[in-house]
Amino acid sequence: MDLDFWWLLVIPVAFAFGWIAARYDLKTLLSENANLPRSYFRGLNFLLNEQHDKAIDAFIEVAKLDPETIELHFALGNLFRRRGETDRAIRVHQNLLSRADLPVAERDHALYELGQDFLKAGLLDRAEETFRSLDSGEYSLGAKRALLTIYEIEKDWPKSITAAEQIEKMGAPSLHMEIAHFHCELAQEALQRKNPDGARAELALALASNPDNVRATILAGDVEAASGHLEAAIAHWKRVEAQNEAYLPLVAEKLMKAYAALERKEEGVDLLIDYATRYPSNDLLDVAYKHVQELRGLDAAHALARRQMQDAPNLAGMTRLLEAQEATAEEPRRGELELMRNLVKQRTKNLPRYTCQTCGFRARLFYWQCPGCSGWETYAPRRVEPITSSA
Ligand SMILES: [Zn+2]
Repeated sequence: MDLDFWWLLVIPVAFAFGWIAARYDLKTLLSENANLPRSYFRGLNFLLNEQHDKAIDAFIEVAKLDPETIELHFALGNLFRRRGETDRAIRVHQNLLSRADLPVAERDHALYELGQDFLKAGLLDRAEETFRSLDSGEYSLGAKRALLTIYEIEKDWPKSITAAEQIEKMGAPSLHMEIAHFHCELAQEALQRKNPDGARAELALALASNPDNVRATILAGDVEAASGHLEAAIAHWKRVEAQNEAYLPLVAEKLMKAYAALERKEEGVDLLIDYATRYPSNDLLDVAYKHVQELRGLDAAHALARRQMQDAPNLAGMTRLLEAQEATAEEPRRGELELMRNLVKQRTKNLPRYTCQTCGFRARLFYWQCPGCSGWETYAPRRVEPITSSA
């Protein structure tokens, strides 16, 4: 019983100690903060009330009064940049850099922030120059990444490749996927300049960097087709299936065109039916349906569409199925089917889209690099209808 009583006493004693300690801390805090100018607290107050303009004015006053406030300069610079007032952000960081007594680490930090200001302002030359001056120290990796962004914006692929390789050497995660695309970009440029050998060399480098890169395989087919080597082109495009069958819709039409040019349309249609049956997708069916109908008639196309709807039902597939039924139906059923098809078609006209898996940007065309977030291979190679929840 005695033991229990002593335990009860511990609680108020601990409480008293806590109270004394808290009072002591508060006193120290107050005496330290007596050195901070009033504008600092005014600025904080404005910031908390979301009055950013007034907060900035108050903080500028503090920075003027007390030149030691390096962190405050950084906070202000960031605030300006985020608000899009890049000229003011640039001035804040340049002001900081003009100090002779600035420690090296803070100088690097200020240079890095200044580079970001220039980048945001679209002054790519000055941003590049600033980031290039940071080739060692804590901010060198961040600066190199920023340089890569600049080279990608400028579409300077050789410099992008060098920068990406340097970043990898600095111990960052692999950029092989990106490097392969930079080589593909160079291959595409060579193809446009009608330099197939140059394009082939870049594509070999792309696949060496990333053997899974489907774009290089597709482009290799394009290079051969442009040189009149249709058999070789078909062989490349067929390899897409083994690499990643999801990308087959991107080569379906190319394949058919090559088979048609070789006067082997039947073989091409067989291949398309085979693909569409084994990998049901709306995009593959789109191409297959058109050519099956053209070559083998409506009944064969109808059978293909019906099977597709059983395997992977969707609204675009339904439009096609209604179209097939309508073509063989008698009046008045034909009129009814037409009404249904038009309604579904109208409502789904703009639904299927390629969708970026990183930022959600939806696009009618397929992109290897997202126009929204600049990520590479962020689009799945198939158009999808948005999923609507039935609330
Ligand atoms: Zn994106």
